[in-house]
Amino acid sequence: MGVAVIGAGPAGLAVAAELQRAGVPAVVLERSEAIGTSWRNRYDRLRLHTIRWLSGLPGCPIPRSRGRWVARDDVVTYLEDYADIHGIDVRLRTTVTRIDPSASGWILHTAGGDVAARAVVVATGFNDRPVMPDWPGRSGFSGQVLHAGTYRTGAAYAGRDVLVVGAGNSGAEIAVDLVEQGASRVRISVRGAPYVMPRSMLGVPTQLVAILMRHIPTAVADAIAEPVRHAFVPIAELTRRGWRDPGRGLYSRGRAGSIPVLDVGLVGALRAGTVEPVAAVSGFDGPVVLLSDGTSLEPDVVVAATGYTNGLASLVGHLNVLGNDGAPLAGGGGTVPGLPGLYFTGFTNPMSGAMREMGLEAGRIARAVKRDLSRR
Ligand SMILES: Cc1cc2nc3c(=O)[nH]c(=O)nc-3n(C[C@H](O)[C@H](O)[C@H](O)COP(=O)(O)OP(=O)(O)OC[C@H]3O[C@@H](n4cnc5c(N)ncnc54)[C@H](O)[C@@H]3O)c2cc1C
Repeated sequence: MGVAVIGAGPAGLAVAAELQRAGVPAVVLERSEAIGTSWRNRYDRLRLHTIRWLSGLPGCPIPRSRGRWVARDDVVTYLEDYADIHGIDVRLRTTVTRIDPSASGWILHTAGGDVAARAVVVATGFNDRPVMPDWPGRSGFSGQVLHAGTYRTGAAYAGRDVLVVGAGNSGAEIAVDLVEQGASRVRISVRGAPYVMPRSMLGVPTQLVAILMRHIPTAVADAIAEPVRHAFVPIAELTRRGWRDPGRGLYSRGRAGSIPVLDVGLVGALRAGTVEPVAAVSGFDGPVVLLSDGTSLEPDVVVAATGYTNGLASLVGHLNVLGNDGAPLAGGGGTVPGLPGLYFTGFTNPMSGAMREMGLEAGRIARAVKRDLSRR
């Protein structure tokens, strides 16, 4: 095999398409039974938070007919069409368990046997494994606890009192979905003070603003963002409702990987009091959820929107290519010194949009792989 790409999500498909365009044959190895599996498994209400025309992958924009904010199922269809249009060779039901260097490149271990490749692109996803905090007393909780990764629709919780833990983009949207689908009470447990921004301001996508600001120094970007934030987010009112305002620093935090919540209904729900912010969860005691401010609640259901981790440790952890945060030390077409031919894509969460950046990174990786293979 020339080049093996691991993972048939947007990042892997984009790299495979760009490799093909560069005349480098590539095969995509995918663990599950279909491409775009992470999108297939996400909750029903989900739409891209990034605008359609800045979310398409190289060589094939998302069709205009899919609207401004593309629905989950349309993302899946787009990824399927993308693979077809580019004739990408995807081998489904192939889990790569470990990658090792070899004399001619790399060996990928799979249940069906070892696969040799001259170069490997790891595109197994930033959000591969749900993180469920090990809260004291959780196993004795008499209500239901689930991770946001297995949440599908608020319809399943109509009439129930639900606590959503975590106010990132998933938690914020799930809280709104629960309200819209008839939960009897919805509270959102917030650790820290997340930024909330509209998806667009006067018709201009917030994502586009982040792209235009990317060369502006962070301190200046923070200063510019402050009056904008005050103009488009009802901060005083949200604060009165118990939502803590983070103050200045939108870009400092965003560029460090903690992107703002792009509002798809949370602000309205907080204003209406249909989603109530509460403090961080500190533990469980029988039917009771204990909060860090000393208060407690008795919800029927707890949805842990507590994030994900990548699955890289078992795959490449032994190669010393991961930083202390578990993220790869190489990205954007670069490799770790001493390990030529091993590339990573899709392991950042930029304010400019993950899918947009994956598309750009795919071109850089394809050029680097082509250069590298022609030298060897
Ligand atoms: C709820 C949610 C909403 C998001 N909304 C947006 C948005 O609006 N705009 C945006 O730009 N980004 C968004 N993102 C971020 C990002 O674009 C998506 O997570 C995207 O799916 C990541 O693409 P990926 O290809 O890197 O990973 P994935 O889509 O997760 O694909 C990785 C693939 O690798 C496979 N795989 C994993 N391990 C192995 C293995 N060992 N062997 C073989 N195959 C393997 C998986 O089965 C999977 O198919 C969102 C993320 C989440 C969680």
